[in-house]
Amino acid sequence: MTSSAPISSQLVSRAYRGTILHALSRSELVYFADGLLLVDSEGLIVACGPWADLKDALQGVAVRQCRPDQLIVPGFVDTHVHLPQMAVAGCQAPSLLEWLDTHIFAEEARFEDEDYARTVSAWFLSELLANGTTLANVFLTSHPGASQIAFETAASLGNRVVMGQTLMDKHAPDSLLRPAAQLLAETESLCKSWHGANDGRIQYAWVPRFALTSSEELLSGLGALRRQYPEVYLHTHLSEQLAEIAAVKAQFPWASDYTQVYEHFGLLGARTILAHGVHLSDEELLRLKTLDASLAHCPSSNFFLKSGRFRLMDVLQRQLRVGLGSDVGAGPELSLFTVMKDAQYMQSDTLVPLATLFYLATLGGAEALHLGHRVGNFEPGKEADFVVLDLPPSPVARQKPTASSQQDSEALLSRLVYQGHQPWVAATYIRGHQVYQRTAIAQN
Ligand SMILES: [Zn+2]
Repeated sequence: MTSSAPISSQLVSRAYRGTILHALSRSELVYFADGLLLVDSEGLIVACGPWADLKDALQGVAVRQCRPDQLIVPGFVDTHVHLPQMAVAGCQAPSLLEWLDTHIFAEEARFEDEDYARTVSAWFLSELLANGTTLANVFLTSHPGASQIAFETAASLGNRVVMGQTLMDKHAPDSLLRPAAQLLAETESLCKSWHGANDGRIQYAWVPRFALTSSEELLSGLGALRRQYPEVYLHTHLSEQLAEIAAVKAQFPWASDYTQVYEHFGLLGARTILAHGVHLSDEELLRLKTLDASLAHCPSSNFFLKSGRFRLMDVLQRQLRVGLGSDVGAGPELSLFTVMKDAQYMQSDTLVPLATLFYLATLGGAEALHLGHRVGNFEPGKEADFVVLDLPPSPVARQKPTASSQQDSEALLSRLVYQGHQPWVAATYIRGHQVYQRTAIAQN
């Protein structure tokens, strides 16, 4: 989008020239074959448009010139991922509940050791940046010490995150459980330290793991915290597998459905992010829409644990807020490229428009996290979170059916969705600061 008002060159402190693609909505893409992204000294976008229209605003500002085989896109948004599962991603089990028992709880218990927590936090948060993920909604472990370390690491690496201590007071190994009152005090203390930290890049979330590991006392205490701190997020799982839903029905016999458990305790509303929602009824979708809660669609994880098929087109048609999540470690990798592709393949009877997949991985994710006014695309005034991608060269010229810019952008997007992967990420920027640069690999 080109700003119609003249641009004061004094505002511009950094400039990036190259092919640029970003989404304005689910169906509206903006593509500049030779574009320019102008950023001010605060890391805010001054303008984004064709080079020819904006070059006069440079006035001596050095331009970072991307190569013709590179592409600038907004940073990816991962709306559901688990930091303490990084080391067990890709470990198979027959079902969600068995996977938790076999692999996950034992791994999360290792975060009692703060050296271990420090090592994995640095690994996970660096890998997010290496995957071009500039905003992530993150489950931590249940240890307040390890949670504190994760926040310190994010602040030092410059990640933009929504994170919170995972809270469990039943149905997990003793080493991961604490009484509800203690958990509520620990999570409130972390929230006071970190919500809004690092110039707003760090946001806090209340994170009950899911209904099954929560007592009514814990859920009710979180409802009270939500009323006290309405700007803080709530992040949990909902309706992932049929056996889980049956267990929730047995544990909360008074609830009409899984959604009502959270609704009853005042946990649903704007800034609530619910991972999965694979088996939601029409009635539940309607209530979530009315409450303005968001869904995190995690197709790679749903394939991995054979959870079922998320009703993406129904959710989009009902205008719910929805983003994409890698759900590492049930999702095997952090790459949002893979998640976009899996979101397409999961809809076996419908072709999801490429623009919609790209929107979900960028602006849609930001909107699901109520941060669409700050990041997600290159509209002027937003924070400059973006990724420079290297598209692998081909020994032959690619066919160009027409010279239309729309066809060029569709062809590019199709490559991103079906062929993109982590090694394409050359550099990652958050609020105009470079937070990742791929190191060159020596060639023999
Ligand atoms: Zn999860």
